[in-house]
Parts: sequence; structure tokens; C-alpha cells
Amino acid sequence: MSIDPRETHRQPASQGSRIDPYVGSYAARAQGMVASEVRALFAVASRPEVVSLAGGMPNVSALPLEDIGQIVQDVVAQQGATALQYGSAQGDPGLREQICEVMSLEGIDASADDVIVTVGSQQALDLVTRVFVDPGDVVLCEAPTYVTAINTFAAFQADIVHVAMDEHGVVPEALDEHLTRLAAAGRKVKFFYTIPNFQNPAGVTLTAERRRRVLEICRSHGLLVLEDNPYGLLRYEGEACRALRADAPDNVIYLGSFSKTLSPGFRIGWALAPAAVRAKLVLAAESAMLSHSTFNQMVVGRYLSTHPWREQIKDFNEMYRERRDAMLGALEALMPAGTTWTRPQGGFFVWVTLPEGLDAKAMLPRAVSERVAYVPGTGFYASDEGRRNMRLSFCYPTPDQIREGVRRLAGVLKSETALRDTFGTTSTAPSGGNDTPSPDLP
Ligand code: PMP
Repeated sequence: MSIDPRETHRQPASQGSRIDPYVGSYAARAQGMVASEVRALFAVASRPEVVSLAGGMPNVSALPLEDIGQIVQDVVAQQGATALQYGSAQGDPGLREQICEVMSLEGIDASADDVIVTVGSQQALDLVTRVFVDPGDVVLCEAPTYVTAINTFAAFQADIVHVAMDEHGVVPEALDEHLTRLAAAGRKVKFFYTIPNFQNPAGVTLTAERRRRVLEICRSHGLLVLEDNPYGLLRYEGEACRALRADAPDNVIYLGSFSKTLSPGFRIGWALAPAAVRAKLVLAAESAMLSHSTFNQMVVGRYLSTHPWREQIKDFNEMYRERRDAMLGALEALMPAGTTWTRPQGGFFVWVTLPEGLDAKAMLPRAVSERVAYVPGTGFYASDEGRRNMRLSFCYPTPDQIREGVRRLAGVLKSETALRDTFGTTSTAPSGGNDTPSPDLP
């Protein structure tokens, strides 16, 4: 069955007027908060007949749900009076100790006093930006980078400057050049945002040598590093890397999360920051949400203390490795000449570069009508780049679905290259500038 992408333009009937009477009242920072033009297409992409290689949702069905049910019951029965009460904005001290144990797997030696629990690492991104960024300040980011980080920096009116990346991670010389140029221009650069392991969306990992260089460069320019590491423990091959924070405790704010190693439904992440910064983050968290969900923290804490969580991560890794291999194998077997892609050692994502002249955003309606979805590369840049790129995720569909999805995608690419070769043109891009994929595409 094929899908008519035109259906995606239908809007649900809304009540009352569509004219927003408050349009003149919004703060300047809200100007950039606009829904994606491809959002409606993704509503179609969530239909069961479509293989979605778009979303980055962890496969929580692999979790021991009965055990987690028992943990929830025990928390209510044995610790209910505390679990159902307000807590602190810094987070449960016991959980913060356990978080230090998790971080020690990547070489970090930290005190629980310097950890702040957050609502997913997403809230940590928001708090750090809130505390550091004034309108017009520069935030340096890898190119491409995590879409919701871009949205957060943009919401605080940061000037996002992209730093080149290749298959070994961010290019240190490019970082140095930007910092030197920006300093000469008198610009205030507040931090360098990086996802060193199995990057979202590119799937690449920063090498040990480059980690050293990046820290040296940032130290010499007096720049803070914001290290975002939600995927680090999801490694399917190769040696684990030391966190940047492990070697530069005073220059790095480290963000972690239980979303990928346990479940995003608990919304528990964290930031580890130098003491003075941590104090500011706690104050910012207090005004954002007063206190955390004590209940969720206690469930996660009890899971960590009663369940073999390291074994659970190994199980996840086996499952995701099989899916990654299914995707890489299918790409190798089916993609037309001129298409290239990254080979992630972990995480959820493969970054594809299309043959010359093809446009991933323009092609998306056609792909969806062929029952396969992906995220166009343009969403992962603050600038107008990424048209020849797409992010494919292998975390959620089964290996068979992944192979079928890649087969359908390869068919679309082949007909687009045939159009290009015959008429010198391909599917045309929807009008409008850069788009932002829906936030439900983590
Ligand atoms: N950072 C990166 C790089 C991500 O990919 C995500 C979501 N997938 C997050 C942060 C936020 O995750 P969470 O809030 O669930 O911890």
C-alpha cells in the first residue's frame, strides 16, 4: 500500500480562531520556536506500514518489566512517605552517589556533591545555557549536532558557530581557528558543546589523541567544554574511551543520562560540574522546577542497587549490535554508487551522504510514500547545510525491518539518481528555510 504524502498537510480541526492574539507579546527568544515543516510527514511515518529509521527511541521492550514493576511496588510500600514527598533541586544524595559509580566506568573520579540530577540530560542542556548564555554570545558546536541542543541554544539567542567534524570526531585545528578568529573579533564564546561518543547524528567517536588536543585548545583559550555523553556505555566494538571530564575536571561540564541505558520514561539525567557552576545550576533548577520527582529517583536508585544493571547494558549492547550490523550490511549491499555512510562503534545512528545532486529533504515525501522514513540532515545544523545528508537510526526497528527499510530507501535513491541523470533534476525541496525535526525524534 502506498501513502499519499499530501495527506500530511491536513490539520486536525482546531477549536476557535487560528489567529494568535498574543503574537505581538511573545519574548524575542520565542521567535525561533517554530514547528518543523516536516513534522506532519513524521505523523504519517509513525504508521505501522512505514519502516521508520527516523526516531532515536531506545528499545525499552528489552527491559525486565516485571522486575521494574516489583521495584516500583517496593518503593511505594517501603519508602512511600519519602518517595511521594517533595525533594531537593540537586537530587537524591543516594542516587548521586550511584551516578558517580556509573561515571567511574569512563574514568571519572567525582564527588556526589558536584552532581546535580536533571530531568533527562535535556534539562541539563537548558540549565547550563540559562546560566551561561546571554543573547548574542557564541556557542561552538560540532557540525552536524544534536537537534534539540541547537534548539536550546537558539532559545537563549546564542549565536551558534559550527566546527568541522570528520570520521574521527571534531577537527581540533578547526576548533583552534574558530577560537582565535572569534577572540580577534572580540566575541564572547561561552562553551564548546560536544558529543564525543557515537555522536548524534553522525555516529562518530572522538579519538583519544583528539580528546587530548581538544582539551589543550580549550584550556589555552580559557573555554569551558560541555560534554554530552548519553550513549557512551552503548559500545558494540572497540575500546572504551576516557571521558573528557576524566582528564579536565575544572574545564568540563559533563552530562549523563539513564535514558539509553535504562529508560527515557523516568526522565533522569545529570550534570557533573565544577563546584561553583554546580551551585548556579542548582539555583537555576530550583526556579525551573522546585524539586525533582523523588519517586522516579528512588525507583532508579533501587534498580541500580538491586538489579545487575551492567549485565542489562551488555544485553542492550548485543541487541543494538545486531541491529547496527543489519543496517551496515544492508547499506553495503543495496546503496547506489556515490553514497557513503559512517560506521558507528556504538550508539544509535548512521550518517549518510547522498550522491552528488540529491537532496534528502526534498526526497522525504517520496520516501514516506515508499514507506520508509529518515531525518533529513538539514535539521542538525544551525546553518543551511546538510541537504545531501540523512540520519538513519537502527535502535528501534528489528533487523528484518531495518533491512527492508534500507531496501526501500535504496529504491528511492536509485530513482532519484535516474531522474538526475535523465533530466538533470531531482525531487524539489519544500519551500522555506532550514527545518527542525520534531522533538519527538530524539
Ligand atoms: N543529548 C543527546 C546527544 C541526545 O541524543 C539526547 C536524546 N536522545 C539527549 C541529550 C537528551 O536525552 P535525555 O533528556 O532523555 O537524557
